[in-house]
Amino acid sequence: MIKQNLENILKKLPSEVTLVAVSKFHPVERLMEAYEAGQRVFGENRPQELAAKVPEMPSDVQWHFIGHLQTNKLKLVLPYVSLVQSVDSFHLLEAINNWAASNNKVIDVLLELHLGAEETKQGFTESEILALVAQVCEHIPSGLTCVRIRGLMGMATNTDDMSVVEKDFERIEALYNKIKALGVEGFDQLSIGMSGDWPLAVKHGATMVRIGTDIFGPREY
Ligand SMILES: *Cc1c(COP(=O)(O)O)cnc(C)c1O
Repeated sequence: MIKQNLENILKKLPSEVTLVAVSKFHPVERLMEAYEAGQRVFGENRPQELAAKVPEMPSDVQWHFIGHLQTNKLKLVLPYVSLVQSVDSFHLLEAINNWAASNNKVIDVLLELHLGAEETKQGFTESEILALVAQVCEHIPSGLTCVRIRGLMGMATNTDDMSVVEKDFERIEALYNKIKALGVEGFDQLSIGMSGDWPLAVKHGATMVRIGTDIFGPREY
């Protein structure tokens, strides 16, 4: 069933778009089913759960962190992930940089744009992101030498109204293209699209989609 679900998605997903299998709340046996069907990139959103799953899974899995990350949880996450998709504040970016510096690493991150209508949603504003990126590309010494800003991440408004979702995707796509046009080195990832809306995200330039329910079925909280 998981294998079939993956095949159905991959049939329609352009081959250059990365499929992140969002495995939060699902047990390792189900992740292994996806692994055995060929899936290698997994997304988790809780530090403890990620840290517990990593040693249970094969070592060639690439883990992405996609949830709100508190700075006191960095050591549960940063040793294991190839990408932190959900950097939602300058404070967090600095903390990741400091951890990376003292562990002799460079951490790839995406900046999360506050996109949906929900007030509770985390993330930067457009102008905050532009200011940050301008700092990086004008080589203003920012001290942030151990994080690499690889792109943007966004979650559309939680609604069945696809015209609202499409407006959200248009907004983040425009910001992404604007930054790309500045020629920021290594900035090449746009992570948008989940189970209900990923085909629309692909239409708007997604290079990564984060899909949970359509692969693993509903989550039991
Ligand atoms: C849970 C989650 C997803 C996946 O959601 P589905 O609707 O199950 O595909 C994608 N992105 C983020 C940030 C999530 O927390």
